[in-house]
Amino acid sequence: MGGGNFFIVFCFAININLIIIILLNWKDIIAMSIKNIFGSLVFNDQVMQKTLSRETYAQLQQCIKEKTSITIDIANEVAEAMKNWAMEHGCTHYTHWFQPMTGITAEKHDSFLSRKNGDIIMEFRGKELVKGESDASSFPSGGVRATFEARGYTAWDPTAYAFIKDNTLCIPTVFCSYSGEALDKKTPLLKSLDAVSKQAVRILRLFGKDVMNVNAEVGAEQEYFLIDKGVYKARPDLVYTGRTLFGAVASKGQELDDHYFGTIKERVAKFMEELDIELWKLGVLAKTEHNEVAPAQHELAPIYSDTNSATDQNQLTMELMKKIAGHHNMACLLHEKPFEGVNGSGKHNNWSLSSDSGENLFDPGSTPEDNLQFLLFLTAVIKAVDEYQDLLRMTVATAGNDHRLGANEAPTPIVTLFLGEELTGILDAIADGRSYSKRARCYFEMGVNVLPKFLKDTTDRNRTSPFAFTGNKFEFRMPGSSLSISGPNIIINTIVAEALMQFADELESAQDFNEAVKEIIRRNIVEHRRIIFNGNSYDKTWPKEAEKRGLLCLKSAPDAIPCFTAQKNVELFERHNVFTKTECQSRAEILLENYCKTLDIEALTMIQMAQKDILPAVTTYINEVMQTLINAEKFSFNLDLSAQKELLEKLTSLYNSASKKVEALQEARVKANRIKPIADHAQDYRKYVFAAMEDLRKDVDALESITAAKYWPYPSYGDILFSVR
Ligand code: ADP
Ligand code: MG
Repeated sequence: MGGGNFFIVFCFAININLIIIILLNWKDIIAMSIKNIFGSLVFNDQVMQKTLSRETYAQLQQCIKEKTSITIDIANEVAEAMKNWAMEHGCTHYTHWFQPMTGITAEKHDSFLSRKNGDIIMEFRGKELVKGESDASSFPSGGVRATFEARGYTAWDPTAYAFIKDNTLCIPTVFCSYSGEALDKKTPLLKSLDAVSKQAVRILRLFGKDVMNVNAEVGAEQEYFLIDKGVYKARPDLVYTGRTLFGAVASKGQELDDHYFGTIKERVAKFMEELDIELWKLGVLAKTEHNEVAPAQHELAPIYSDTNSATDQNQLTMELMKKIAGHHNMACLLHEKPFEGVNGSGKHNNWSLSSDSGENLFDPGSTPEDNLQFLLFLTAVIKAVDEYQDLLRMTVATAGNDHRLGANEAPTPIVTLFLGEELTGILDAIADGRSYSKRARCYFEMGVNVLPKFLKDTTDRNRTSPFAFTGNKFEFRMPGSSLSISGPNIIINTIVAEALMQFADELESAQDFNEAVKEIIRRNIVEHRRIIFNGNSYDKTWPKEAEKRGLLCLKSAPDAIPCFTAQKNVELFERHNVFTKTECQSRAEILLENYCKTLDIEALTMIQMAQKDILPAVTTYINEVMQTLINAEKFSFNLDLSAQKELLEKLTSLYNSASKKVEALQEARVKANRIKPIADHAQDYRKYVFAAMEDLRKDVDALESITAAKYWPYPSYGDILFSVR
């Protein structure tokens, strides 16, 4: 028990003669209560050990470890234990919880209710745990499912823990079609995890390590905006599309940098407190909460975990953020770019590999220049990122993220890798056949004696890189805030598996292992060093330099998504058993369709807002200004009304122009919607609809800045960004 000033006395009367007194200080009580809360709604390892027979628990663990099938007897016992545990927590229903290609989660609730010999009983059988059926035709399938062939299956994923949400037992499942194609985001993720594990194990064994498995670990930092529910509801664009389609800049935005890490407002702090507790109950290791750069923007970072749990948990985090914001009369915006001219929100995907003995394969150690195993794994990532720039770009391609990438707040659409000076120096020396001279680490000096001294890192951080090595992990910074991290991790795992596979093939037949490793590193650095960029990727000159290096620049989602089906990529996915060709095609189709639909909803919302609210409001204001001029003339006031006249001219000319642009947007939709292959369809949405939307917005925003506030039908940027007090 630690020291402290306040003690609370607990007395337990076990029987009349024996009273136990426990002294606890407040720190212990807080720690104890967090421990009690943490994972309390998860059917985790401790609960399984308590509720399953020893044999069943051991068999289940063995199946998970060795990735073998679960027998119906095990399933029956697990199902019964899950049901009893869930009922103790007040649940009456269960659901197979899955991640269809909508990017959000789906659930269909069934009760435990059953009838036996005329009696009502609560029952949950193994076969219900293991398999569920769902109408596959109602979820996006990219042509894999015809609507008349509706059957789809959900199958229990025993590697992820079941949990309780909204008084329902949620069982994480995969989702596939009757003919076996994956219709979800979990199945290929699990396959990619197997792929990278298999190849990394081959390499580690060559280094003499006794390993069975290598795990990809992920920590997903989540950015979001919190605004008042009232202003949210008053903006149809936020309600229908998640972002503001119009909005003149506010007089104060993020110029003063006074929001980043600033004091957290009380209302937001209460939200964060509730969010942390609810996430902890679900076993999510929510750790860091702080204000972000833009006003009303915040971030949550969890402690990293295995990729499968991190993915499930990030989906839950986003869901809970939205729900809990409502409890505090706020709305949580997860869109990548809710406000023009203000930083958007990203999701940094921190990724590393670690062996089953807990060794982080990207830990450089104190002498990275001599750490061949580390350098080989690092080289594999360099090769993978360079050879599959297109897939990394593709996996973050959405309509929303197009507004963010390259907008001087997030990396450009050009994929590069940051290594920092020290590692680049080591790799350059290897590539050039020189010996490496190490830079000594020095102490950080602040010139004030009383302050503690500490060793400076050998490299500064780089915040602008799309794919940055940050000490012992890689941080992929391109994903937008609403994206499921499943996609990016499928790609990272698969492309790294490919590079490791090629290395393992070569090394397994090498005469001199150490020399062969060095030669692989040297050859690959020479070949792929163009992908390493330690400079500022927000710099205006960078895209030109990138072009000279031959790096890919896929500006928009419709440019990037078709890469999914490029032959080299289909072959890669098939080689590692992650996607079939049909799955690649169907997924590309879903992404392109989603792009067109998103833009169409945005265009329609803009048209409605302009026609129904904005233009009529401007008419009223025009009328008022006109009335001033009429009155002045009528009563023969000898006033200088040139400013009013000028305003009237500006208002009417912008009104006319905006009205024409509403029509132009309608026409652009019709043009884009003419029948054609889906990839061309998406390109046309970008070319015509997106351009017409930008054009209309310019006029409307100009109108907003000269129309009297009392006539403007929607809350302004200032009202929204500073709505939470
Ligand atoms: P920053 O915002 O500076 O990038 P944070 O500390 O806020 O850093 O977030 C870093 C994230 O990376 C956290 O979610 C953390 O758990 C995660 N992380 C740390 N180490 C690893 C690792 N070895 N593998 C994967 N993720 C990691
Ligand atoms: Mg980060």
